[in-house]
Amino acid sequence: MNISSAIFDCSAPDLDSCPDESLPEFAFIGRSNVGKSSLLNLLAGEQGLARVSPTPGFTKLINIFTMNQCWRLVDLPGYGFAHTSRGHRARFNHAVNDYLMNRPNLCLVFALIESGLSPQKMDLEFVEWLVRHAVPFVLVFTKTDKVSAVAAQANITAFTNRISAWFEKLPAVFTCSATSRQGRSELLGVIADEMTAITTAASRAPVPPASSAHPSLKARVRQNRKVRPDLHRPW
Ligand code: GDP
Repeated sequence: MNISSAIFDCSAPDLDSCPDESLPEFAFIGRSNVGKSSLLNLLAGEQGLARVSPTPGFTKLINIFTMNQCWRLVDLPGYGFAHTSRGHRARFNHAVNDYLMNRPNLCLVFALIESGLSPQKMDLEFVEWLVRHAVPFVLVFTKTDKVSAVAAQANITAFTNRISAWFEKLPAVFTCSATSRQGRSELLGVIADEMTAITTAASRAPVPPASSAHPSLKARVRQNRKVRPDLHRPW
C-alpha cells in the first residue's frame, strides 16, 4: 500500500470528540516509549506526523489522521504514564477504554510491545484486557534494530507463551524498526488486506433499502469480522 496523503484530523480528549464514523479506523497503542510515534511516522512516510517525544507519556490525546482519504490512523495515548498524577492517568485510560470498546468503525488494533524486553506485566495485562473485551488486534514487536534477532525472538516467544492459554489461535505477530524501516510494508499490507476485505464484504451485502443508499460502515466492519475470523477473532 502506498501512502499518498496523510492528513491530521483532530486530537480528541474522549470518544465523543472523535470525528464521524464514516471511515475504517486502525488504532496503535503501547506502553509509553515503545516507539509508537516513530512507527506511525514510518508508516505514514512523514516525519512529524505523530510527535516523537523523549518524555514518556507525552501523547495524551486520541490523535486521528486520515490516510489516502479512505481510512484513519488512530494514535492512542500510551498506557503507563510514569510522570502523571493518578487522576490524570485514570482519565486517559477511560477515554482509551471507551474508544476501544465502543468505536463501531474500529477495524483493528496494533498492540505495540518492545522486542528488547522480556514480557512486561503492563503489556500482558493490556493484551488480556483486549481479549476479555473481544477487541480485534495484532501484536507488533518494535525496535528490532536494538537487539539481536535471537534475543528479540526469545522475548517474542516468551510473550506469546504467556498469552497462548487465552487463545485457540494466537493473534498475528509482526516485528518492526523505525530506524531500519523493517516491517513497514508488512504492517501496511495488513491494513490493505483489511480494506480489501471490508470492500468485498460491502459488495456481498444485500441491497439496502432505498432509504439507506450505503450499508453502514458499522455493518461492513461487522461483516468483515465474520468473514476474517482468523485475523480478527483468534480466540
Ligand atoms: P512513543 O512514546 O511510544 O511514541 O515512542 P517514540 O516514538 O517517541 O520513541 C521513544 C524513543 O525510542 C525515542 O527516543 C525514539 O527515537 C526511540 N525509538 C523509537 N523507535 C525506535 C526504533 O525502531 N529503534 C530504535 N533504536 N529506537 C527507536
